[in-house]
Amino acid sequence: MEGPSLYLAAEQLQPFAGRRIERVSGNSKIGIERLAGQTVLAIFAWGKHLVFQMDTFALRVHFMLWGTFAATVKGRSVTGDYRRSGPPRLVLNFPNGEITIWAASVKFVEDADAKAAYDFSANVMSDEWDPRAALAKTRAFPRAEIADVLLDQAIFAGVGNIIKNEVLFRTRVSPFVKVRDISDRKLKAIVADARTFSFRFLDLRRIFALRKNLEVYRRSACPRCGGKIERRVHGQRARRSFFCAKCQHVRVSALPTMRIRRSRSGTNIRTAPPRDAGGRRRRARRRDPA
Ligand SMILES: [Zn+2]
Repeated sequence: MEGPSLYLAAEQLQPFAGRRIERVSGNSKIGIERLAGQTVLAIFAWGKHLVFQMDTFALRVHFMLWGTFAATVKGRSVTGDYRRSGPPRLVLNFPNGEITIWAASVKFVEDADAKAAYDFSANVMSDEWDPRAALAKTRAFPRAEIADVLLDQAIFAGVGNIIKNEVLFRTRVSPFVKVRDISDRKLKAIVADARTFSFRFLDLRRIFALRKNLEVYRRSACPRCGGKIERRVHGQRARRSFFCAKCQHVRVSALPTMRIRRSRSGTNIRTAPPRDAGGRRRRARRRDPA
């Protein structure tokens, strides 16, 4: 889930702020029993984190690549159309409803004011978002591919793979271009659109119309020129980029695709690029939850 979905989640879960947790269950091994009887004082989102503040500690939920959640208030669903996958990590029962979380990373933060530890100027969904700081931080990685930098949560907290791809298409920038080769004007446009598109994402998510309104992410034809949308797994993060070579000025012929190595008999053997330590090449083929 990307930043706008977490922003929406915090909003949807506000009926539980000030409420006492009556029962706790789930397969998490972090000692979730301690949540029983606690009152949730506040619920907020930062980037891809969803945080439940209790009196002396907080629960931090990170949905990673595949986590989802659902909640009901007085028997009525208040969340979206997220897929549910396997046994729940955590279920919180309140007098007025329940929250169920799947496949997320959950962690306790021993802090009576967890919100104060977050830098909201780096959060694209925040009123405190500071585009000038983001620009300066981006320029500090001149040799990095822009697609990698957009996913850096210390610079663009909340931006995930969908937002990255859409922003680069909307600003007509190649995902492969290095930061040092991008003009100031263009880089400012990228930084500005990281926030602008995130709010469009939020509006579309509210009405369950996100997928069909994406222009390049998992699309096959460019909505602007009708050309083919290409896809490549690349960069330090080994995440997938979707792009129109024509509109985003990418020389596809210059991109690495398969590695060629020569066998002893002299014939060329094509091998796929190696996996990174996390095995991300395989995982990147799966769909990113919005
Ligand atoms: Zn195009």
